[in-house]
Amino acid sequence: MKAAPEAQKRLLDLAELDSAADRLAHRRRTLPELAEIEEQSKRYAKLATEVIEAETEAGDLAREQTKAESDVDTVRARADRDQKRLDSGAVTSPKDLSNLQSEIVSLQRRQGDLEEVVLEIMERREAADSKAADLRTQRDELAATRAAAEDRRDAALTEIDKEAAEVRSRRGGVSADIPADLLALYEKLREQYGVGAAMLRGGRCQGCKVALSIAEMNRIKAAPHDEVLRCDECRRILVRTPESGL
Ligand SMILES: [Zn+2]
Repeated sequence: MKAAPEAQKRLLDLAELDSAADRLAHRRRTLPELAEIEEQSKRYAKLATEVIEAETEAGDLAREQTKAESDVDTVRARADRDQKRLDSGAVTSPKDLSNLQSEIVSLQRRQGDLEEVVLEIMERREAADSKAADLRTQRDELAATRAAAEDRRDAALTEIDKEAAEVRSRRGGVSADIPADLLALYEKLREQYGVGAAMLRGGRCQGCKVALSIAEMNRIKAAPHDEVLRCDECRRILVRTPESGL
């Protein structure tokens, strides 16, 4: 393949722009915010589950408390009813009176026990409520932290996309200077090796960093300026410049 030395040199500009585009794509994939957000999302999901568990427990205890309070009311109502019967004077038999009195005592004892149960449930409920509130705070703080990381990620992506658009636009200008067949070869090699063209600098291919043999250097020296050369080692297009050491 033949191409003007100037067109061949433009391949180096193209390769530089392609490397810049690759670096931008790599930065896009490896933004620290991406890992941060992923980790925060995992923690958020775990906290959200813990909030639901704590709220469920608090809700269960609230129902338990209502039930226990209603038990207290039932016992208290029975005790009140017995007390009224006692006070009414309607019960006259000593045996019935004694039974009624002992039932009142037993109901009062029962009420005391049930009130203890209510207090114990209330304490557990308070602890569960405060645990749920604490977890909600942690969850909401994490959501805010994650939102801030998402904002930073979006800002970084916008910046990267802007730079990538500039690189693409400059690449369009450079590739316009390169003949179609040379450009096609470059693109094919780029696809295969990541970089399609490399400079020959100081007797060394800058693509694979291998030093060319004296025989190869002599062959290159003898080659016409418009001949498109390839590195024997890495097969990339080898571009001659004043720095080539020829
Ligand atoms: Zn090479």
